Amino acid sequence: MAYLSINPHTCEQVFSADDLTQSEIAEKLKLSKESFSAWKGSSFEQRRELISNVATLLEENVETYAGIITKEMGKLKSEAVAEVLKSASGCRYYADNAESFLSDQLIESDGDKVLITCQPLGSVLAVMPWNFPFWQVLRCASAAIMAGNCVLLKHASNVGMCAEALEQLFLDAGAKSGIFINLLIPSSQVAAVISDSTVCAVALTGSEAAGRSVASAAGQAIKRSVLELGGSDPFIVLADADLELAVNNAVVSRFMNAGQSCIAAKRFLIDDSVADRFIQLFKEKVEELVVGDPLDGETTLAPMARKDLCMELHEQVSQALENGAELVTGCDYSAENGCLYPASILDRVTPEMRVYNEEVFGPVASIIRVKSAEEAVAVANSSRFGLGGSVWTKDVSKGENIARALECGSAFVNSMVKSDPKTPFGGVKESGYGRELSSYGIKEFVNIKTLSIKGGASTSASSEKSGELYRAIRQR
Ligand code: NAP
Repeated sequence: MAYLSINPHTCEQVFSADDLTQSEIAEKLKLSKESFSAWKGSSFEQRRELISNVATLLEENVETYAGIITKEMGKLKSEAVAEVLKSASGCRYYADNAESFLSDQLIESDGDKVLITCQPLGSVLAVMPWNFPFWQVLRCASAAIMAGNCVLLKHASNVGMCAEALEQLFLDAGAKSGIFINLLIPSSQVAAVISDSTVCAVALTGSEAAGRSVASAAGQAIKRSVLELGGSDPFIVLADADLELAVNNAVVSRFMNAGQSCIAAKRFLIDDSVADRFIQLFKEKVEELVVGDPLDGETTLAPMARKDLCMELHEQVSQALENGAELVTGCDYSAENGCLYPASILDRVTPEMRVYNEEVFGPVASIIRVKSAEEAVAVANSSRFGLGGSVWTKDVSKGENIARALECGSAFVNSMVKSDPKTPFGGVKESGYGRELSSYGIKEFVNIKTLSIKGGASTSASSEKSGELYRAIRQR
């Protein structure tokens, strides 16, 4: 059974499906290719209508979609509602702005007509994770489709129900079958799909291991790839920080989505002079979190998505404790707890510990004490990851200088790292490459083409005629 979803709270099986057979995969790839031949000639008006309809359906059916997410991967219902609404706003952003991002740009030149034009590429394979099963897919798909591409989704094998709901969402929004296709395939089939001539580019959001394998398959086939991988974001608290503000944000940033967010604060780099006070306030707030049923409005810390993920997290925590980390709160887990991992804090984390070097993908905060802002930046940048980072200080210009010095894709001063459709999102180092969101994100999925036209002055009648010809050629 390739796709299998177990409700993390009730432990009931909620979805299962067999992998597609080779001939089913071939048929879907053929359909995607045929759909692209038609969709690449669509007008922005047609694309806008489709993606706006997707947004409207998300808003109108938010409870249904949020219910599917919670049932399948366990996040709090309130967090699932927020995810669906954010997905809708991401779709609206591209529906409203794609045309201006991609419209022809006339370049000043001596006499010739020189243009930069953005053309669709083909079918984009989106290999996606389970932690934000709607948002991750839709932030990529809305951009790719607004650019005139088709999308093939390979979703994580524990969120097959979300994958099916997303395919149906596009059909309900008026997409011809083939514009957005759900491919229920195992990760072992991804390289073969990338190598198929239908696929022109691949966008992966996932772990480093998946990144290496997808990037090498894309490299082998000489196809474009965008990699949004893991992170170990620093949360730097300087001596002059507003500690209450920092702690309130630390709790949300680390424990939202049960700590399973790529841009969660993961390493808390606290100036020694305020570390004891920070930890005391942090511990108080963290101990107020209530772990339990994600459908219950009283629950404030969701279960993790799978039991194996809790076990893996607990191995990292145990190794840190064996190597001298101080247990501030939580950290007591055994297999009988299923997917419920307690909200935990470790103090005096050092480089010998796995939690210092690896991504900690669950509700565990690692505190690293530092003696100065310079040391904080050095520790922050010593990581092989470079996704996001935040700095907390009342000296805003110092904060800005530190934010500029962080080796990452998004740095925030006095607010937690978050994504926004209007700003580019992505990482450096082993957090990946390429960008999603904003005008930068949509340009990952187009052929940015130079057109240089020499010769006779074109009248408006002849340029209208040639426009018709061009549209006819694009429709073919
Ligand atoms: P994952 O295990 O890497 O899976 C992500 C996707 O890749 C799934 O569809 C998975 O399919 C597929 N996959 C796994 N191994 C593969 C391989 N060798 N070749 C091709 N495809 C492969 O990651 P996850 O556990 O779902 O997600 C958590 C990770 O994603 C964390 O590291 C997190 O930081 C990262 N993430 C990054 C961002 C970002 O924007 N930078 C956002 C969210 C999450 P199967 O499920 O079938 O294995």
